[in-house]
Amino acid sequence: MGKARSGSSVPDVLEAIRAQARTIMDAHGLTDWTFVFDRAVRRAGVTRFDRKVISLSAPLMRTYTEAGAHDQVRETILHEVAHALAGPRHNHDATWRAIARRIGSTGLRTVAPDAPTIETDWVGTCPAGHTMTRHRRPSGIGSCSRCSPRFDDRYLLTWTYRGTQLADVGTRVRVTAPGRWTGAVGTVHRVAQTRYHVVVSGAGRLLTVPFEHAEPV
Ligand SMILES: [Zn+2]
Ligand SMILES: [Zn+2]
Repeated sequence: MGKARSGSSVPDVLEAIRAQARTIMDAHGLTDWTFVFDRAVRRAGVTRFDRKVISLSAPLMRTYTEAGAHDQVRETILHEVAHALAGPRHNHDATWRAIARRIGSTGLRTVAPDAPTIETDWVGTCPAGHTMTRHRRPSGIGSCSRCSPRFDDRYLLTWTYRGTQLADVGTRVRVTAPGRWTGAVGTVHRVAQTRYHVVVSGAGRLLTVPFEHAEPV
């Protein structure tokens, strides 16, 4: 029963975390702040002061929960609530740390080293925060097999490579690799296994740029 029905419990884990976050946020006066989930795989949470939003990684919160690391979920919420209370200029300074500890966080600036992580090169996430991992670039689009055994466009996977969402063919990227082409902007011509092929006008040739050394512009 449990396994076959896991799909039906999909929203519950995240909804419980959403409710937990909402309760903690409200208790600390953040009633006009919004809580959302995102699909980050390399960072647990982020506080966006301009829009008064606290955003937590659905894949990581699900991973923590499935590993029984409920303290880590709570710690992530408290960490971001402390940022919201401290204000934008404090980052992880003494003011932030004092607030964090007062509200029950450890006050550590980074996630505990023993917390579960998602470290595979290719990670696909669905809207419910399920994660699929691959060691090689997936071919074609796919949908989450835990949400639906058949292809279903309500559960499309978004793939990231080492935590970064890839640029599409035809979009523009800036080269960040050190060297002659640093800062050059070009158009993605092809997305290969680990690199983009980028057409840079003026370069007179195609550059091959590792994914981690190009950023969307
Ligand atoms: Zn922080
Ligand atoms: Zn799913």
